[in-house]
Amino acid sequence: MRGYRKNRRPGNRPMTDAELELTERAKRGPCIPCLIQHETHPELLSRNEVSRWNEWDHHKEGNLRVGHLWGWASCQWHHRRIAPAGKFEAYTRKYGPSLMDGSAAFYAYYGSPYELILRQYRVLFPRHDIPETFDRAIVETVLEGLTEEINRRTIIGTFDPEPGA
Ligand SMILES: [Zn+2]
Repeated sequence: MRGYRKNRRPGNRPMTDAELELTERAKRGPCIPCLIQHETHPELLSRNEVSRWNEWDHHKEGNLRVGHLWGWASCQWHHRRIAPAGKFEAYTRKYGPSLMDGSAAFYAYYGSPYELILRQYRVLFPRHDIPETFDRAIVETVLEGLTEEINRRTIIGTFDPEPGA
């Protein structure tokens, strides 16, 4: 058991203090899929309706978490398709699809997981201003990994993790 635990993937280990601080801060900010829905369909979802009561959606590859910091803030609708009884169709129209409607449809609608993670980090650190309280090295490792992934997959072209630097 101990050996198994030691070899657990990064996304299954308990969160470190730095990971907890970042994800908790993200959860108090906008739901990233809500934000994208607001930006692309402002007539359906106003800025005030973008959820600030969120969960942390861990990005998974092959059903395994990549790491705790590879994720984005997501409301209960977007993460787990939770809506008041009888409101599923209305929520789908207003908020767009939930991840529980299927990951293919979800990513086709909002963008790839890497684009969602990147958007989360741009919301957290709009001017790449990572506060002293965060572990800069960890955040930069995620941004570097994102840059590599995005460039490798050429999803949204080349991303400069330090604009203006
Ligand atoms: Zn949402």
